[in-house]
Amino acid sequence: MSSAAAAAATAIALCEVKQSDGSVCNKPATQHYRWDWGAEGNSCPACVPLLHQSAASLSRTFHLAPLPTTSVDSGVSRGERTQLIAAKLAAEAELEEVQQRGHSLYNSNVDLTKQVQALKMRETEHLATIAQQEEQLGQLAAKLEQRDRDAAETSTELQRLRTLVQFAEAPPPKTAPSSAKGKGQQPAGG
Ligand SMILES: [Zn+2]
Repeated sequence: MSSAAAAAATAIALCEVKQSDGSVCNKPATQHYRWDWGAEGNSCPACVPLLHQSAASLSRTFHLAPLPTTSVDSGVSRGERTQLIAAKLAAEAELEEVQQRGHSLYNSNVDLTKQVQALKMRETEHLATIAQQEEQLGQLAAKLEQRDRDAAETSTELQRLRTLVQFAEAPPPKTAPSSAKGKGQQPAGG
């Protein structure tokens, strides 16, 4: 018997009792029997009476022992099974909650990313506006400077003209009598 077969036999023991028609029962076994001549096998509860009948007819004896409960149930009691199922359900609920939290975190992350992008776009627009306004301000400052220069030139010109007018209106030299005010064509110098 290979170890794999042994494991399978341990996992699912089947009834090996021959029926009246000669076939083997093959139902899940719960008992292990051993005849006094050494033959042994597994039996389901329904076939135990058959074993007793055989023993009676053969005038032999057999030893019966429950199979170790290493099968699917593996000794888990009903209460333990209920607890395990409850724990499994709780774990599944917790998992679902965690997944939902993860999902909502993902969603809010997407929202925040959108907000950040919108703010960045607005910032870019503001910076562009500020740059534009600074440029306009620079142009205005340049114009103002130009006007200041123009005003200074005008002022200088005005001063020069005033000076000219003063000379022009200055009384003529005493050596040259003249009528009152009029066109004085005498050059005043300059
Ligand atoms: Zn059987």
